[in-house]
Amino acid sequence: MSKLSGKVAVVTGGGSGIGEAISKLFAAEGAVVHIVDLNVEGANQVAETIVATGGQAKVHAANVTDQQAIVQIANEIGKIDVLVNNAGIAHVGNLENCAADDFDRVLNVNVKGAYNTLFAVVPRMKANGGGAILNLASIAAWVGIADRFAYSTSKGAIFAMTLSVARDYLNDNIRCNSISPARVHTPFVDGFIAKNYPGKESEMFKKLSQSQPIGRMAKPEEIAKLALFLCSDDAGFITGNDYPIDGGFIKL
Ligand code: NAD
Repeated sequence: MSKLSGKVAVVTGGGSGIGEAISKLFAAEGAVVHIVDLNVEGANQVAETIVATGGQAKVHAANVTDQQAIVQIANEIGKIDVLVNNAGIAHVGNLENCAADDFDRVLNVNVKGAYNTLFAVVPRMKANGGGAILNLASIAAWVGIADRFAYSTSKGAIFAMTLSVARDYLNDNIRCNSISPARVHTPFVDGFIAKNYPGKESEMFKKLSQSQPIGRMAKPEEIAKLALFLCSDDAGFITGNDYPIDGGFIKL
C-alpha cells in the first residue's frame, strides 16, 4: 500500500530541487500534491510530470511571504494532511557583509514564510484530526557554516519553530519535525556556483563535492525519501526533532 494514499500534501518551493523531488515522491506514494511556488514555470513542469505519470498535482503561484495569499490557498485546498515547508533562499556573507536588507530578505522567506504556511495550515489540521509537518532546516544551523550568517540564523529559527509547534499541538495528533541536509545538488547550489565562481563552475562543483565527508553532494531524491518517512504514518512516534541527512558532515 502506498504510504500517502488518500492524503493531501502542500509542498512550498516544489518547483525545483528538493521540493521537486519531494512533490514527485509524495505523489508517487498516493498523495494529492499542492505545489506553492513563485517559480510557476518550474512548478508547472513538476505538476505536468506528476500528472503524466498517473499522479495528482496542482500548482498555486504565490510568495510564501504573503500571508493573505497563503491563507487563501489553504482555504481553497480545504483538508490538508501534510505540509512541507521547503521554500528557502540563501545569502552569502558573514555578519559584516550582511546588510539589513539581506538579513530581512532571508528571514522573511525562510522564517516568516514558514510561519505563514503554519498559520494557514495548522488550524485546518487541528480541525481535521491531525497531520504531519516537515520543515527544511540545514546543517548551517548545526555548525554555522562560514559566510552564511543570515541563512544559518534563519535555519536555527526553524529548529525552535518546529519544537514550538510540536509541543503546542501534541494533543491534536499533529507531528512536526525538521530535516537538516548538507549540500544537495539542486539549482540552489548550481546558482550559487555560477554567481560566485563564473568560469570555474566544474572546478567548484568538484571542490564542494569533496568538502562533504562522504565525497559527494546528496541527490534531492535521497532527501525526499527521509521526508516521506517523516511525513508518513511510519513515523507516528516521531515529533519535535531535527534529523540531519548530511553524509557525515556534522560528526565526521
Ligand atoms: P531551489 O532553489 O532549487 O528551490 C527552491 C524553490 O523555492 C524554488 O522553486 C523557488 O522558486 C522557491 N521559492 C523561493 N522563495 C520562495 C518564496 N518566497 N515563495 C515561494 N516559493 C519560493 O532550492 P533547494 O536547494 O531545493 O532548497 C530547498 C530547501 O532546502 C531550502 O529551504 C534550503 O534552504 C534547504 N536546503 C538546501 C540545501 C542544498 O544544499 N541545496 C541544503 C540544506 C538545506
